[in-house]
Amino acid sequence: MQKKRVVIIGSGPAGFAAALYTARAQLKPVLIAGNALGGQVSQTHEIENYLGFESLSGMELVQKFQSHVEHFGAQVVYDAVTEVDFTKGSPFTVKTHGETYLADTVIVTIGADPRKLKVPGEAEYIGRGVSYCGTCDGFFFRGKDVVVVGGGDSALEESLFLTRFANSVNIIHRRDTLRAGVQLQSRAKKNEKISFTWNTVVEEILGGDDGSVRAVRLKNVQTGEVYEKPTDGVFIFIGHVPNSQIFAGQLATNDNGYIITDQRYRTNVDGVFAAGEIQDEIWRQVITSAGQGAAAGMSAIHWLEEHEDELQPLEEAVQET
Ligand code: NAP
Repeated sequence: MQKKRVVIIGSGPAGFAAALYTARAQLKPVLIAGNALGGQVSQTHEIENYLGFESLSGMELVQKFQSHVEHFGAQVVYDAVTEVDFTKGSPFTVKTHGETYLADTVIVTIGADPRKLKVPGEAEYIGRGVSYCGTCDGFFFRGKDVVVVGGGDSALEESLFLTRFANSVNIIHRRDTLRAGVQLQSRAKKNEKISFTWNTVVEEILGGDDGSVRAVRLKNVQTGEVYEKPTDGVFIFIGHVPNSQIFAGQLATNDNGYIITDQRYRTNVDGVFAAGEIQDEIWRQVITSAGQGAAAGMSAIHWLEEHEDELQPLEEAVQET
């Protein structure tokens, strides 16, 4: 059992930014990294839109985040949270595979994952033609032909963004009606680079001899016809899945499972904060998540200042339990 002033759950940009701010406030935060250090960022081939860096890989950025926070006294733990108890108020219990933490404040930055198609070839070609982020990877498809899977706002917004680079963007949707808002629909339908393939699902993503995507195998769900469509890239926008299941029944979420926070990144539990993609279903950028994490870190610092008189010394609290 360890008692901490601040426990941060998640090692994406929001988590590291929260760690930086709370570490520089001398709070010695512990950041529980989860199963994949850096989350979605570490899987990003190249990042060109994080301020101050013209180009670096996601993994490089995560390593910089880690050495920065450790320099100021944050502790990064390679472990995953298995259970939390926020029901009795602060201090909260956070259990990992290897440790139990008693935390005066908790900052939840556990992120969301792009929903996967779960078809053969998808996992294999991530970063080699398969992408879940047009803003991150569109630039690498200049003059290329790409397909986009999905029919919601993200699919259309990202398709429009991709037309800045790609020669053509074909939107593959499983129905013949788009879920996206009418304005986006109208902009997409007017764009000469965008075409639609209706009532169609991707059955497989196929690679070429060079190890990158060369085609998709499609199935028309109405006629049953199966055929190959050559493409240089497959952008998948079929929604995100926030990793909020572990907090079910404790932290309030919206209908899509995103944790609800106020402008100070406070959740419904006093002393528990959330930042980044676990509570933001709109922006999903490294830079915006980092900003939100910094703000959540500052909110936790303020919370600890306001409750200074009630906080138990760290050693005493552990002996009592
Ligand atoms: P979404 O609205 O849930 O749309 C997901 C799309 O993917 C739907 O068209 C869905 O098809 C399709 N889909 C889901 N699972 C699939 C599967 N296994 N195979 C093939 N297709 C599948 O997700 P989103 O577009 O990411 O949007 C999420 C939220 O963010 C929404 O509330 C949206 O309004 C908001 N958002 C807003 C903006 C904006 O306002 N500018 C931009 C982006 C996102 P069906 O239609 O058949 O269900």
